[in-house]
Amino acid sequence: MKIAVVTIGDELLNGEVVDTNTALIARALRCEGYVIDQAITLPDQPQEIATTLQVLNKQGSAVLVSGGLGPTRDDLTARAAAQAFHLTLSLNELALRQIEAFFDKAGKPMPPGNEKQALIPHKAQVMENRCGTAPGFIITHNRCPLFFMPGVPHEMEAMLHQQVIPALRRQLAPTLFCGERVVKVFGLPESDIERQLPASLFPDSVALSFRLEYPLVLVKLNTSGKQESDLDDAERLVCERLRHHVVARGNQTLPQVVHQLLCNAEVTLSLAESCTGGMIATLLTDQAGSSAYLERGAVTYANSAKHDWLGIPNELLLKKGAVSAECARGMANGIRQRARTDYALAVTGIAGPGGGTAEKPCGTVFIALATPQGTDIRECHFSGDRAQVRTKTAYTALDWLRRTLSGD
Ligand code: ATP
Ligand code: MG
Repeated sequence: MKIAVVTIGDELLNGEVVDTNTALIARALRCEGYVIDQAITLPDQPQEIATTLQVLNKQGSAVLVSGGLGPTRDDLTARAAAQAFHLTLSLNELALRQIEAFFDKAGKPMPPGNEKQALIPHKAQVMENRCGTAPGFIITHNRCPLFFMPGVPHEMEAMLHQQVIPALRRQLAPTLFCGERVVKVFGLPESDIERQLPASLFPDSVALSFRLEYPLVLVKLNTSGKQESDLDDAERLVCERLRHHVVARGNQTLPQVVHQLLCNAEVTLSLAESCTGGMIATLLTDQAGSSAYLERGAVTYANSAKHDWLGIPNELLLKKGAVSAECARGMANGIRQRARTDYALAVTGIAGPGGGTAEKPCGTVFIALATPQGTDIRECHFSGDRAQVRTKTAYTALDWLRRTLSGD
């Protein structure tokens, strides 16, 4: 069984647009137990598209195509598909009605060019596009189905899930049992994680792999058999061995976990951020419902802001510096008092690349967590560029809160 993905568009080959559709298709199919054997990107050249479709059709069991179904002159996929399989293009009544209905619903008249989208190879089966105007279609040739989807990612994704995958399942049995578990780890280098998880601990049916998704390391457990319980045991073992370094599992993110813990604990939080410039606030407010606990987040970059908004004495700023344990403590206490929250997080540091000294090199960060029990400070020394230092700072602060709230 061979499955190929073809993405079409000059813009994908000249660097203007990154091809995210292939990755999206591959992930979605993998979840269904199908493996992609080939992925090809082609320019808007009907001859080249037609030749490639013929070759893939001869070799394969299914071909998934995205792009070039639009109303513009450069959208040539339907013509190329017709040419490849010696079909004629004809106006498809169902497709035309769907396009008209789309414009009707949007309360707009249909522009004349859009009629062209209803021209599809005869004998093709139309797939409705509920998110846009370009209908998709299926051609089956030599018992190999070819699915043609629009290029716009969210239109493609909807059609893939609603129509392509169900049709594929009717025609082709999946090869894999799609067992996968993901354990997300923070604060341990990849090499340490690997050492904690020797292959000898796991049954042969479970494959372990590691992937960096900065600043987290993802431990992935896969099985190609039907041993769901092996997978459960392996996941439990990974969590036991890595203990509090495990910050999330599956599709969860660290900010989601912290969000949930804050909601469950029914406590409030305020933030005072310097070097992260609001990143912690962004990560939390990305979560719907964060207003339940987040009272405020202050970006206090300059000394004057730390003084005016958080009450840090000028003398302290002069004597100890803004990047100091004392300043971090003052920031957390200052925002907590003003916001009257249960918890407060504060960060101050040198993200670089400039501004470091021998005593406080770039990557030096102080984090403070103020709780009803008192205020603690952490001094951290992060490596990496400016973006990495800032991201690690935000994640370290959130992870500290996670551990505090969960008693981890
Ligand atoms: P439309 O009706 O919008 O014209 P279409 O099927 O013709 O649909 P394209 O014109 O090929 O689609 O692409 C529309 C837009 O979708 C492109 O400008 C591009 O931004 C995006 N796009 C197309 N293919 C991909 C891809 N493989 N990955 C990510 N984005 C893509
Ligand atoms: Mg187009």
